[in-house]
Amino acid sequence: MRTAEVKRRFLAHFEANGHTVVPSAPLPAIDDPNLLFINAGMVQFVPFFLGQRTPPYQRAASVQKCIRTPDIDEVGKTSRHGTFFQMNGNFSFGDYFKSGAIPLAWELSTKPVSEGGFGLDPEKIWATVYLDDDEAIEIWKQTGLPAERIVRRGKKDNFWSMGIPGPAGPCSELYYDRGPAYGSEGGPEVDEDRYLEFWNLVFMQHEITDVKSKEEFTIVGDLPKQNIDTGMGLERIASILQGVDNLYEIDEVRPILAKAAEMTGREYGKRSGHAASESHPDDVRLRVIADHVRTALMLIGDGITPTNEGRGYVLRRIMRRAIRSIRLLGWQERALPILLPIARDCMSPSYPELASDFERISTYAYAEEDQFLSTLKSGTTILDLAITDTKSSGGRQLSGDKAFQLHDTYGFPIDLTLEIAQEQGLDVDHEGFRRLMADQRARAKADAAARKTGHADLSSYRSALDAGGPVEFTGYQEITRESR
Ligand code: ATP
Ligand code: MG
Ligand code: MG
Ligand code: MG
Repeated sequence: MRTAEVKRRFLAHFEANGHTVVPSAPLPAIDDPNLLFINAGMVQFVPFFLGQRTPPYQRAASVQKCIRTPDIDEVGKTSRHGTFFQMNGNFSFGDYFKSGAIPLAWELSTKPVSEGGFGLDPEKIWATVYLDDDEAIEIWKQTGLPAERIVRRGKKDNFWSMGIPGPAGPCSELYYDRGPAYGSEGGPEVDEDRYLEFWNLVFMQHEITDVKSKEEFTIVGDLPKQNIDTGMGLERIASILQGVDNLYEIDEVRPILAKAAEMTGREYGKRSGHAASESHPDDVRLRVIADHVRTALMLIGDGITPTNEGRGYVLRRIMRRAIRSIRLLGWQERALPILLPIARDCMSPSYPELASDFERISTYAYAEEDQFLSTLKSGTTILDLAITDTKSSGGRQLSGDKAFQLHDTYGFPIDLTLEIAQEQGLDVDHEGFRRLMADQRARAKADAAARKTGHADLSSYRSALDAGGPVEFTGYQEITRESR
């Protein structure tokens, strides 16, 4: 079943059950100062959950584009983490609660494919519930899940909150047992690779305060209205339904990976088994490339451009990581003009705007790659030399001086220096680097102050002004118009 079809079936199931289908919000979380990118389906509904706004519907369903940068180090190493992914979700705003949400999830998961469901074998489904949530356990049993496949878990895994005072509640997660080829038996507590988490049902019923961490807070009482917020990873359920080992092998990602393998002459899948932990390092890199190229496409598509701070910097780092990864596999040319159109073709059936806007998207992407390749060209030799020198003199740490010189003279970002040094088994004197950066900033500030108070000769400006009156400076408008 293609991913686009999985998405269609999800929305159709909830629409048939009285939900209004709501489009995905754009990736940048512009309404939330604490969040760079939307990371879950519920984010666009927060004002409804908090009671700040009245929802125009009591039930909604969506497929939300998400970015989770904290998962970046997992990409390629587990079977289930993308930096970009899509979250299917159904929501109830004070309408149905646990006894509605659990059967709705079970029905879609287990209904035969010929009847519009996902046709998962009920015997392979497990559920986790919060420690004392006997109510959820009861509903699961009535719905058809035997007690031996219902597991109680603590706050860390099964109590949801936004990490701030506000709504919170226990959750119940669905796992799919992929069988002994993927790891040890015993349930999700034992092996989260074999038992793949694919759906999280959150029962928003309490209000919490005194939040010190995910596990330390005080429950003040119950919310006036009980809400449901669920999140099902579209790529995860697609990987199960397509019978592939991980989400980098589904129809929306695999073609990018396959092309990168072909370009670098690497044979993908040289692993000893199906478990992600048995992956060959080349496979991990190929997955990183495929994931990051797709993420870059989706981010630029939603209006982000590579810059040195905030959201733009996240994009820049992701793009650079993809470009470095393919170079490490032996491809030295520009890679994005080959890979980005493939990502577009994978994603545009669900997001046609990626095709119509591709000229703009690709212009930014290719320019960023060109700039990065020239940075790499000038800095890499210097860095390699410094690494060799450090190693041959028995050192374990690259000096702050070197890192600063690379940054200052060659525009080599510090995180890149760190990453390359680490690959070579070296630390970087980060403290020393920071000191030099601070010195440089202080010098620049002092220079600027000196210029302000300095007695520059302004007489020629004075006479021009006296002769012709004030002149309107239009350079800024002209420049910005041209660069559009
Ligand atoms: P995991 O424990 O596997 O990291 P999670 O518990 O952090 O997942 P939730 O916050 O419960 O995930 O998000 C709801 C659903 O979104 C998950 O059940 C999963 O199907 C999907 N999901 C979460 N993170 C990712 C990701 N990085 N890539 C793809 N799908 C994801
Ligand atoms: Mg996670
Ligand atoms: Mg989890
Ligand atoms: Mg979860």
